[in-house]
Parts: sequence; C-alpha cells; structure tokens
Amino acid sequence: MTVWFRETLHPHYAQGLSVDALIYDSKTEHQRLQVFENGTFGRVLTLDGVVQTTAGDNFIYHEMMTHVPILAHGAARRVLIIGGGDGGMAREVLRHKSVEHVTMVEIDAGVVEFSREYLPMLSQGAFDDPRLNLVIADGADFMRGTTDRFDVIIVDSTDPIGPGEVLFTDTFYGHAKRALTEDGILVTQNGVPFLQGEELANTLRAFKALFADWGCYMATVPTYAGGPMAFGWGTDGPARAVTVEELQARFAAAGIVTDYYTPGVHKGAFALPAYVERLLP
Ligand code: SAM
Repeated sequence: MTVWFRETLHPHYAQGLSVDALIYDSKTEHQRLQVFENGTFGRVLTLDGVVQTTAGDNFIYHEMMTHVPILAHGAARRVLIIGGGDGGMAREVLRHKSVEHVTMVEIDAGVVEFSREYLPMLSQGAFDDPRLNLVIADGADFMRGTTDRFDVIIVDSTDPIGPGEVLFTDTFYGHAKRALTEDGILVTQNGVPFLQGEELANTLRAFKALFADWGCYMATVPTYAGGPMAFGWGTDGPARAVTVEELQARFAAAGIVTDYYTPGVHKGAFALPAYVERLLP
C-alpha cells in the first residue's frame, strides 16, 4: 500500500508525493523535519509539512537564486545567505571561485546537522568549504545587527509561516538594503504567484520603496506546486541591464556547468506573464 506525503500549504489545493522510504520524521528546536525517498524526486526534505527541496529538482531553484545575481553583479566577492539550511544554496554560490566569503545564517541547527548527514547530495561538501561562515541565528536578528556589507544577499527561507515569517517584513528588507554594498543585489524566495500572489505583491511593495531597480524573475520548480515561482529582485545598481553577451562571457569565465541556468534563461526569466505583472505595485 502506497503511503503518501500530502502537502497542504495552499487552501483547496494539495500535492502528493509517495513516501517510498521514510528516513526521518521528528521535531527540531524550531520545526518538524521529515525526509523521505520518492521514486521520482529522490530524497525530499520537508519542514512543517511543506516541501523545502528535493534531490531531483533542487538544481533549478538553487541555480536561479545564485547564478542570476552573482553573474549579473559581475564582481561579487561577499555573499550572504539567509536560511538555506540544506546547503544547496551554499553549494551553488561556492562554485564561483570569484566569491571570497559566504556567510550563511540558518535558524535551525537541526536542519544543517540533518542535511549534512542525510542529504549530502544537496550540500556536496559546501559546509566544509573554508570560505563558508555558518551562523546559527534568526536571520532577522542577524540582519538587524550586522555591520558587514555584502554584494549579494540571498533569502532562501521557508514560506512566511512559522520562523520564516520575519523574513518577509519591511523591517527585514530595510536592514537587508543597509547591508548591501553600493551595487549590491537582494534576491528572495517569493513563492508561487498563482497561489501566493499576496506574498509577492507585499515584497515588491517594500522593494519599490527601497530600491531604484525592483521586481522579480521566475522559474518553474516542479515540487513548488502551482506553477512558476517568483524570486524578488532589488538593487540600486545596473545589474539587470547586463547584456546576454556579457553574461555569456562571465558564465564562460566562471567555468560552471549547470543543468538549468543559461545566460538566455537568465535574461528571459525577467519577462513576466500578465497575471504576475498585474501584481507589481
Ligand atoms: N527552497 C525552500 C523554499 O523555497 O521554501 C527553502 C529551503 S531552506 C531548507 C529554508 C530554510 O530557512 C530552513 O532551513 C529554515 O530553517 C530556514 N529559516 C526559516 N526561518 C528562518 C529565520 N527566521 N532565520 C534563518 N533561517 C530561517
């Protein structure tokens, strides 16, 4: 008899993943953490009943939240990741040899410890990279107090429920803006606009007040159910205007082989469907 994991993040709409082998199901200090094997997506990590990432499709999300801002910036040396406990975001950032230092602020040590052991295919050694500085703390508290400055800030958080809620506030975004270098870029995990349009509209309302260049770009991640997801984008610098030719040169120089990101996909991701454009403040 097949056992199903049912994600009920959204009203009236759920997604199911067969639990072909349960690997872990327990509470950390902050969240309920489950990991199981699924025949299509491989290992699946869920927190509080919501899919966080899978071995099978995490490449789309992690490549688009790292290579887009880093290659658009062109000279990112210091990167901040808020959340990202599974290590996938750090993995992709650290593939850029030009990146000298990554600070990762994760609220839940249990997610990191567990992911290191049971989801090594996500971090692929990122936690042992000497450039990585792992901080176990609330990302909102860190952002409020940090005097460091970052060229790229990536908010790889859960959805705005539970501990992730504070990472979707104007206060947090204001502190993030202050922590950016002059042409620095802030990108945020902003859910699936077809089902979470409010969330995106709220973030972009805050970004419009903070940044000269604000908006979002999109990609479809199969296990973030409900259609293409949005990544919030905010910067005072010229990064959005980088040409596809310049991106091709930077991508080639980086010497990174990807499974989703290409310079053409990078530029195309900022072209928004009408129903998402209508969410822009
Ligand atoms: N890709 C996923 C998504 O789009 O929903 C996010 C994956 S990652 C596992 C999300 C991480 O955010 C988790 O490890 C969670 O513990 C962390 N997190 C949630 N709230 C946080 C906070 N306030 N400060 C720092 N990390 C937080």
